[in-house]
Amino acid sequence: MTQYLRGIYDAVASALKGMRITAKHVVRKPVTLQYPDERWVLPARFKGFIINDTNLCDGCLRCAKVCPVDCIYIETMGKGKDRFMHRYAVDYNKCIWCGLCTEECPTFACQHSLDYDHALYDRRRLVYEFVDPERPVPCHKERRQQMGYFVEQVAAAPPDPDRIAKAPRRADLPEAAPGAGGGEGGGS
Ligand code: SF4
Ligand code: SF4
Repeated sequence: MTQYLRGIYDAVASALKGMRITAKHVVRKPVTLQYPDERWVLPARFKGFIINDTNLCDGCLRCAKVCPVDCIYIETMGKGKDRFMHRYAVDYNKCIWCGLCTEECPTFACQHSLDYDHALYDRRRLVYEFVDPERPVPCHKERRQQMGYFVEQVAAAPPDPDRIAKAPRRADLPEAAPGAGGGEGGGS
């Protein structure tokens, strides 16, 4: 009989113990977010996906040359003031987020964004195209200004977290053309 009562006591005590732990977690402040509806506030220097503000880019190729994995594809045509960039793409399949391209860029066109969540079914879509080939971007600063492109002075253009935060995200960018994903960094 004693053993029987002891068993009942242990079962009730065990259930109460479990309920106490559950209750503690019910009132505890959650440590997770309801992603993607809720997101952490990222620090301004967060190294998200590389973006290119083509208003500032002069197609100098320095970012492509310094990239250790050759994942920046730049294609230009013409010379001098008539040089135009018709492709600037970053292959995020290969990018290692080293940031060397941003450090090398003389115009701050190439920056890390705060964008980081890219779950895709097709890895070809991780090749981001920043220039519409039908609308090549003038490389020469004077020509860009003549054509109404916004050009900041380098001295007045330190990396601006606000500008980076407002940079286009995946949904704003054109999808990579089927079959994109190869190519050489550089070329003019
Ligand atoms: S962050 Fe590094 S790997 Fe990625 S594009 Fe820039 S240089 Fe290349
Ligand atoms: S280094 Fe900067 S300015 Fe030069 S091609 Fe790359 S993004 Fe453009």
